[in-house]
This record gives sequence, structure tokens and C-alpha cells, in this order.
Amino acid sequence: MADPIAFVDLKAQQARIRPALDARIAKVLDHAGFIMGPEVAELEAKLAAFAGKKYCLSCSNGTDSLGLALMAWGIGPGDAVFVPAFTFVASAEVVAWVGATPVFVDVERHSFNMDPASLERGIAWAKANGLRPRVVMPVDMFGLPADYPRLLPIARAAGLLVLSDSAQGFGGQIDGRPAASYAAVTSTSFFPAKPLGCYGDGGALFTNDEAELALWKSLRVHGQGSDKYDNVRIGLNARLDTLQAAILLEKLEVFPDEIAARNRVAQRYAEALADIAEVPQVGCRVTSVWAQYTLILPERAKVQAACKAAGVPTMVYYPIPLSRQTAYAHYPSAPGGVPVAETLAEQVLSLPMHPYLDETTQDRIIATVRAAVTA
Ligand SMILES: *Cc1c(COP(=O)(O)O)cnc(C)c1O
Repeated sequence: MADPIAFVDLKAQQARIRPALDARIAKVLDHAGFIMGPEVAELEAKLAAFAGKKYCLSCSNGTDSLGLALMAWGIGPGDAVFVPAFTFVASAEVVAWVGATPVFVDVERHSFNMDPASLERGIAWAKANGLRPRVVMPVDMFGLPADYPRLLPIARAAGLLVLSDSAQGFGGQIDGRPAASYAAVTSTSFFPAKPLGCYGDGGALFTNDEAELALWKSLRVHGQGSDKYDNVRIGLNARLDTLQAAILLEKLEVFPDEIAARNRVAQRYAEALADIAEVPQVGCRVTSVWAQYTLILPERAKVQAACKAAGVPTMVYYPIPLSRQTAYAHYPSAPGGVPVAETLAEQVLSLPMHPYLDETTQDRIIATVRAAVTA
């Protein structure tokens, strides 16, 4: 029996950078500044430069970061926030947190990302139905940047703020520019399995607006004012641990190299599978960070079962569109519905993807998928 295949292999990366990680962690243990220690500001400066934004605020996770951004903008009841129906639940959850209405927008089959035409229908519907269109939240699904060049003009024309949920897409590019630099505010997650992950929970927000950064800093620590014990607004406790910042500083060092490795894996998958399955399409202007490598397979169950029998792990991200989830089904969708999101939920299958996937293992995965599809 061959070795088990990891869907995401965090241990191979750890082995590569372990001495540097150990040294970073030891330094934090020595100075004992576990909350807002010096590594936090060091990381924020490096992340901002990497993202092509002036400012970065690190925080507790990629859900709180989205929530902070909406709170800082004062989004609330009566406001519409346009969210793709095909995403992780957190994208819509934070809209409900602040009492606003998520309006589900369909996605495009070739990119898994927000469909600009559906967004336009959603905006018109919200206006006609007594909601104030306030925010659009494109998601960089599976690591592929959303189509900001097409979405931003629609947002501008409708007076919408743009909050990019780049939990899966941090490090992606469009036309040689960081994808994180396109939206007014970009949010990411450092959950361990994301392309840039820490060893626990973590997240970050990016902006070019200094006043906005100041507001986020206050909201991150219970809405504190200039005096630590004068709380001037309702906030959260949403800081990033110093230990996680220290770990991320070392991971960021190898991140560009890992993005290149992920792209090599994706390239080999595409070459070996494009004739038998619908493989992800990445335009020539765009660089994905391949948070997932996702096929569209009308006979998904058959392929999934054959992979399982052969010891090849696969995952279904995501099996239920948000518009059909129990807690969200009462929220509206854009006119025309979200048929692409619904089809994708039935047909997507993600293969093992990480920067340390060697060619022999990849060939085993490819052979298994080919045999299953053509059986
Ligand atoms: C992971 C993820 C989040 C949430 O990030 P956490 O750090 O787990 O809170 C939000 N949106 C999307 C699209 C995600 O994939």
C-alpha cells in the first residue's frame, strides 16, 4: 500500500522552516509580550507592503476581519450587502451580525467568482425593494482573484463600498498588481489551511485610509478611545496573538516561493486532466494562489468514491449554496436566482493541493481521477 496522501500538507512546510520558526517562537517566549508584542507591528508592515496597501490591521481571524470592516463603515439594518452564493458561510454571516441584509449574487462557472451581471440585477432589486445598496463583497474563490476590473466600475456607478473577502486569495495578482490592492478594503484569513496560514486563528484587513485604520484599531480592542479605559464605541476583542504573528513572519518569507510551487502543481493537473474534466480557468492577466484545485464533474459521486477507494483524499467545497442553507435561506437572491452556484454545489470536487505535492504523488492522483472519470 502506498503512503497516505495529504490533502493539505502542513508538515512538509514546517520541516522546511522549523529552525527559523523555533527561533522566532523562542524570542516571543523570552520577551513574553504575548499580546501586541513587537512581532505584530513588524508583521503588519510586511503584510501591507506585500498586499500593495498602505496599512494593515492584523486580527483574530478572517471572519472578525470582515465584521470589523462592516462595523467601521457603519453598515446596519436596511443596508444591502452583495455576497456570492457560492462561498464559505463567513462571507454572509458577518452581514447578518451587523443586522444588514445579505443579497446573494450568482457566480461565473469558469471562475467560481461573482458574476457582474447578477450583481447589477441584485443592486436594482435591492433599490426597488426598499434596501440601501451599500457594500459589495467579492470573494477570491479557491485562490483566484475575483474579477475586480469588471466589478469595481459597477460598484462605483452604484455608490457601493467594496470589501474583498480574500481569505483564500491572499498573494494573488491581476495585471502584475496584488489582487489585495484593488478593493477599498481587503480582508484575509490565516487559518492553517489557507495559502498563508498560521498555527491557529488569525486574519488581517488592508486599507489606504489612515482614519479607517485608526477606527479598526479602536474596534479591535473593545472600541477604546485615546484613554485605554474610556470606551468610545462598541467593539470586539479581536487581536492577533504575538506568537501567531511570529510564525507568520517566517511563513511569509517562503510564501512567494510556495505560490510558484502551487502554480506548478496546478499547471500539471491542468495538462493531465483537461481532456477528461472541466479544469479551472485562469485568465492570462491573473495569478491564482490555488487555495484549492477544483474540478467540475457532472458525475462527482462516482469519481469521489473511486478516489476514496484508491486512498486519494478529495473534498467538496461547497456542497450547499448559502442561499439554501438553513440559517440563510430567508435572505434574498438577485433576480434570476443563483443557478450556477446551485450547479457548482452539485458538481465541484477539490483535489489535494499544496506547495510540497511531489510529482510522483501528483501522478498517482491524476491516474486515479482519469481512471474514475473514464470508467
Ligand atoms: C476561511 C474563510 C473565511 C473565514 O476565515 P476564518 O479565519 O476561518 O474566520 C471567510 N471567507 C472565506 C471565503 C473563507 O474561505
